[in-house]
Amino acid sequence: MSNYDPVEVTPLHADEMARMQADALDAIKAARDLDELKQVRLTHVGDRSPIALANREIGVLPPAARAEAGKRIGGARKAIAEGLAVRQAELEAERDERVLVEETVDVTLPSGRAPHGARHPLTTLQERIADVFVAMGYGVAEGPELEGEWFNFDALNISPDHPARSEHDTFFVESVDSGKVLRTQTSPVQIRTLLSRKPPIYVIAPGKVFRTDELDATHTPVFHQIEGLAIDEGLTMAHLKGTLDRFAEVMFGEGITTRFRPNYFPFTEPSAEMDLKCFVCRGDSAIPGNPPCRTCKSEGWIEWGGCGMVNPRVLIACGVDPGRYSGFAFGMGVERTLMFRHNAEDMRDMVEGDVRFTLPFGMEV
Ligand SMILES: [Zn+2]
Repeated sequence: MSNYDPVEVTPLHADEMARMQADALDAIKAARDLDELKQVRLTHVGDRSPIALANREIGVLPPAARAEAGKRIGGARKAIAEGLAVRQAELEAERDERVLVEETVDVTLPSGRAPHGARHPLTTLQERIADVFVAMGYGVAEGPELEGEWFNFDALNISPDHPARSEHDTFFVESVDSGKVLRTQTSPVQIRTLLSRKPPIYVIAPGKVFRTDELDATHTPVFHQIEGLAIDEGLTMAHLKGTLDRFAEVMFGEGITTRFRPNYFPFTEPSAEMDLKCFVCRGDSAIPGNPPCRTCKSEGWIEWGGCGMVNPRVLIACGVDPGRYSGFAFGMGVERTLMFRHNAEDMRDMVEGDVRFTLPFGMEV
């Protein structure tokens, strides 16, 4: 054992030691970032590294040889530690530089701000309509969307065998016997108003109504109506006509021509359909030989809504004396009004929530 030399323990051989050191320094140089350098450190100077394993071999050497072997290992460790420190400093500087560049804030760049939402054109149109009537002295009334059958039908003189009461048109809630329906019209608000206020009454009631229709270009199961009711002494059909003419002018422009066409509604007597002279062709398309008009389908007139003098039976049902008071009521579709005003041809556009439809109406909030 006396001639036992470190050169005979392979890991401690000077050449082997030099190779380990060179391998470590190459790996250190090749490390591209701090994570890789951390891995290099583990591999080449960690507890399981070749140099650590070689260190353990010192114990088996004769005492005379230990100092020499220890010096070799110490030299290699020092060289590797220095290499690591230099590379660590280089990589940290690179990282700091990169962070500075990547996290630079250019305050002149346009920001990716989320677009503001805006109210739906149906909502803003309803408010604009309400404003027209508020300016004429009307108040705004509201009623529930889940309505009692009596308010939705009976009190409005719609008998149980009326087509509007068949389940084809009406959403019943739970069973038909429950007596609860999703209101099919805003007219029950008339009844609620008549029951809770004393004449004179001037109210407008905008709101959602429900019918069991499929959604297509001209129908939707949920749509909006604007209901008007005026009850006072001495009101006549002329007051109704004057009021609706003013409404039409604000909606469709000065000089719009309107007409009343006789019709039937259970809750008004007499009843009329209000038509607008087509504001696109001014009625010319109805004259043979003239170019056709898509807006009025070459009929010259556009059907806008229903109206009439409140049926005395409705007044009686609500405890109002028909001998003293008379009044008128009207109801217009808000979707229909929006379609005419803005040439929107497909009702589905109004419910699908595509901003390409709503953006041109502006960002009114
Ligand atoms: Zn027309």
